[in-house]
Amino acid sequence: MKRWGIDLGGTKIEGVILDDALRPVIRHRIATEQEKGYGHILMQIKSLVGTMAEKSGLDLPEVIGIGTPGRADGVDGVISNSNTVCLNGMPLLRDLREALRMEVAVENDANCFALAESMLGAGRDEMARPGATAFGIILGTGVGGGIVRDGRIIRGAHGIAGEWGHNPLPGEHSKCYCGRRGCVETVISGPALERHYAAISGRKASLRAIVAAIGRDEAARKTIDRLVASFGKALAAVINILDPDLVIIGGGVGNIRQLYTPEARQAIAANVFNHSFDIPLLPPLLGDSAGVFGAALLVGPPLHSQ
Ligand SMILES: [Zn+2]
Repeated sequence: MKRWGIDLGGTKIEGVILDDALRPVIRHRIATEQEKGYGHILMQIKSLVGTMAEKSGLDLPEVIGIGTPGRADGVDGVISNSNTVCLNGMPLLRDLREALRMEVAVENDANCFALAESMLGAGRDEMARPGATAFGIILGTGVGGGIVRDGRIIRGAHGIAGEWGHNPLPGEHSKCYCGRRGCVETVISGPALERHYAAISGRKASLRAIVAAIGRDEAARKTIDRLVASFGKALAAVINILDPDLVIIGGGVGNIRQLYTPEARQAIAANVFNHSFDIPLLPPLLGDSAGVFGAALLVGPPLHSQ
């Protein structure tokens, strides 16, 4: 069976069709043009699906997977927390079903990332074992995550499973956009690290510049040391509940080499309720393809050892 997926982002909408061997048959992207509003985005998606059918010579599918930042709630898939702000409050799932005249599965981008990377990317060898569980992290502008077991996303009773970015971090009190204080995201997201650096150095710098300056700038080193220590505490809290077989660390902050050092493992191990901490921490392999591949994997039979 062919799997059709769409990654709906703030600047581009990308579509892919995967064949039975999960190889892309075609891939196509268009601009989101979110400034033209919600109705326009629906039409862009419809036009993209039409182009995919035309280019591939395939009939339209019965069901399509859509990945997007934010949350889709209830039977209508009402969007919240999306950085494509015109989607917020809109029943995206219901409207896409009507516009496309097919069944639609909508999932947030962190879950799509976790699904694609665990089954087709970094985790594919470990996940071939029946019952293996992956925790996929997006560590960037925000802090999100998704849980995958036996080729399926674990959503939980209310769709918030894996949302470790809003767990409280001991000793932290900064205000979070979610209304709480001391959330993990207020400490280890990219913007939080840049704020911390500015607060202790009196200078503004991008995260990239901060990382590059570690060897010669005391404030830069302290900022990244704080990231590593806080990442360890925050991830250990997840590991104590989920006990995953592997963790995949995606997102812009996830690229930072210091998260893969023995010191970072020690920061996690020190807070894990076990004598040893031996699971792999893996960098992602699929790059910006993870979102669209994950969307396609939302539909069709569950994957095991593909
Ligand atoms: Zn929060």
